[in-house]
Amino acid sequence: MKFRVGDFEFWHFQTHWFALDGGAMFGVVPKVLWSRKIQADDKNRIPMATNLLLVKTHKDLVLVDTGLGEHWDEKGKQIFAIEPKDPWKDLPFGPEDVTLVVLTHLHFDHAGGNTTVDLRPAFPNARYVVQKGDLEEHQHPNERNRASYRPEDINPIRDRLVVIEGDQEIAPGVRVIRTGGHTKGHQVVLFESQGRGVLYMGDICPTIHHAPLPWIMAYDLYPLETLEVRKRLYAEILKNRWYLVLEHDRHPQRGYMALENGKYRIDPQPEP
Ligand SMILES: [Zn+2]
Repeated sequence: MKFRVGDFEFWHFQTHWFALDGGAMFGVVPKVLWSRKIQADDKNRIPMATNLLLVKTHKDLVLVDTGLGEHWDEKGKQIFAIEPKDPWKDLPFGPEDVTLVVLTHLHFDHAGGNTTVDLRPAFPNARYVVQKGDLEEHQHPNERNRASYRPEDINPIRDRLVVIEGDQEIAPGVRVIRTGGHTKGHQVVLFESQGRGVLYMGDICPTIHHAPLPWIMAYDLYPLETLEVRKRLYAEILKNRWYLVLEHDRHPQRGYMALENGKYRIDPQPEP
């Protein structure tokens, strides 16, 4: 789970197991096709996890996303088959060491760990970077996305938010690229050191099975934007040979993008 690229050290680690409806996860792709890749349980849910990325740069300790967090009652735990892991036990740092939290977006499986059960910041010495468009959707949800956003993930850290708009270098060697698609302000995070890049994909490609262009989640609010941004981003990924880190596979996946006969895939490679 630990790797190094250039001067930066990376830890790709797991906070929770959970499960989501397989049909919702694969959008318009028929179950006949996706069930060859991943098996659903008797409630049609597929196994997933939240796999975060912790990065030691020259100056910062950066955490990308915060996972499902602990704000769960029994009903919620059952619906999503949530099983907490003990994420910090094998890491050389604790939550108090994190200086920068970058949120790909504010859905509960990405921002749920922002705060503790008693509604304090879970990373007491960190600023939290979020896109303006995503914060707006969180603050003004509609009937379709309301279930994905929770006030307790954001309200206790309001004064620590760094709200940005568009692509931006947020710290030396740390760049966000606003993608939209999944949500209005969804962003991916690029770490660059010594001419090499590591890209955390967030929900633009949630699991290794989602690499093909049309394998887009039904959860995406702007699926055609996901398609367009994938075309642009995948080309950049191939050109720069960025090492990809994925968020939602039950067994954490990392690897390189490949294009063969017009079809994209991600070839797993645990070390860069
Ligand atoms: Zn997600």
